[in-house]
Amino acid sequence: MSTIELPSLFLERMQGWLGSEFPDFLAVFNQPPQSGLRVNTMKISVADFLRLSPFDLRPIAWCPEGFFVGGDSRPGKHPYHAAGLYYLQEPSAMAVVDLLDPQPGERVLDLAAAPGGKATHIAARLNGQGLLIANDLHSQRAWDLVKNLERWGARNVMVTNEPPYRLADQWGAFFDRVLLDAPCSGEGMFRRSLEARLDWSPEIVRACAVRQGGLLPQAARLVRPGGRLVYSTCTFAPEENEGVIGAFLKAHPEFELVDVKTRVAFERAHPEWIGIETELPSWSGLYRLMPHKGFPEGHFIAVLRRRSGGEWREVRPFPIRLIPPAQRREIQNWLASLCTADIDPLRLMLNGHRLYFLSPAAIDAGHLRVILPGWFLGEIKKDRIEPSHAFLLALQGEQIAFKLNISADHPAILKYLSGEVLQEGWLSENERQVLAHKGWLAICVDGYPLGWGRVVEKAIKNHLPKAHRFL
Ligand code: SAM
Repeated sequence: MSTIELPSLFLERMQGWLGSEFPDFLAVFNQPPQSGLRVNTMKISVADFLRLSPFDLRPIAWCPEGFFVGGDSRPGKHPYHAAGLYYLQEPSAMAVVDLLDPQPGERVLDLAAAPGGKATHIAARLNGQGLLIANDLHSQRAWDLVKNLERWGARNVMVTNEPPYRLADQWGAFFDRVLLDAPCSGEGMFRRSLEARLDWSPEIVRACAVRQGGLLPQAARLVRPGGRLVYSTCTFAPEENEGVIGAFLKAHPEFELVDVKTRVAFERAHPEWIGIETELPSWSGLYRLMPHKGFPEGHFIAVLRRRSGGEWREVRPFPIRLIPPAQRREIQNWLASLCTADIDPLRLMLNGHRLYFLSPAAIDAGHLRVILPGWFLGEIKKDRIEPSHAFLLALQGEQIAFKLNISADHPAILKYLSGEVLQEGWLSENERQVLAHKGWLAICVDGYPLGWGRVVEKAIKNHLPKAHRFL
């Protein structure tokens, strides 16, 4: 018996498939879920993070930048989280991008990317080189994705809000790597999510499989010849896993499964659970993470490669509308007053009042709904330019002209993160010197940018966006 209530039909299915392993599988539901964090290697090396971290961390064998978080630490409420030094992610989910294996300089597409667990992982692996396009169909979720990518400090990312077929119609077989982290019945998250348990039914599993069967061929259209396609779910249901892959490969002989070298031994695929074991010559290249076999939650990952073919489209660089020279110089002066980062003025673009830096790898999106075309730097107001949170969070502490650096355990940090005005009296004699500076000032935690403030009459007005505050 497990202490959380699981759908009886789900249990029946799993018992039928797992046989003698079923009691071990069931026992997992009596244990608390494990938390994980993944270090943002664009901002800090793993070794430096371990020196700085106050948390009880244990390495995750299938992700070199991932750690289990133990004890009663609350890493989501720590200033280092607000500074984007790590992302909180379910540990099994960290295997997906490790198997996608994006390389710096590549063009990578994450088709169902919100809220950004895998997209932030991809951005860190690209390390600022190449392009990540992160897409999600649902508008509100796509904006949550933008928020998480901003905190992450990624400059070479575009965010779109489209159904995948529209991206395929626009760009064709353009990407080196495509990830479809598909919407699924979520059985692998039952231990964490009451909602997933309440929503589950065999009909949901069937409906998800149909939807996934429609999405995967669209994802495949976007993969260049020789490129990699990774399909993942967080469910055990074979209809949504082996079933979707089997049907796809039968209809798409231009793709093959790739048996990649993995850091740990994952569970093999189970096509026999739905009687399709003879449909493919080989079922290697499919990986299951099972909770009773040393992985926290359930996941399924398929690694595929396009052997040949692909629809070619002409994909042009993003058409930057150049800013008139006089205004551009003004913006350059403004940028230089805030930081020493090397920002090519010819890649600056205004979209209405919003100022962006467009990565050299950014591409033309035609009529697609692009909600983030690049690095958002700030907003032009009537009499000034207001720097954005995304601008600051993508800078290194040493690139910032004026800053107040406070340690993580300084009481002023939590006040700042709660949205309060920083009063002179909270600062030491030394720290108070920054109040002589008028204007924008970056608040940093142990050297890492956290958010903007503005010095006004011996106090620092809080410019941390509401969405990033601790409530
Ligand atoms: N990859 C995300 C991460 O690691 O944080 C989690 C993705 S979640 C499993 C699936 C996502 O698919 C949801 O954000 C949902 O909004 C999105 N979605 C649902 N239907 C979609 C569709 N037809 N096209 C693209 N995204 C879709």
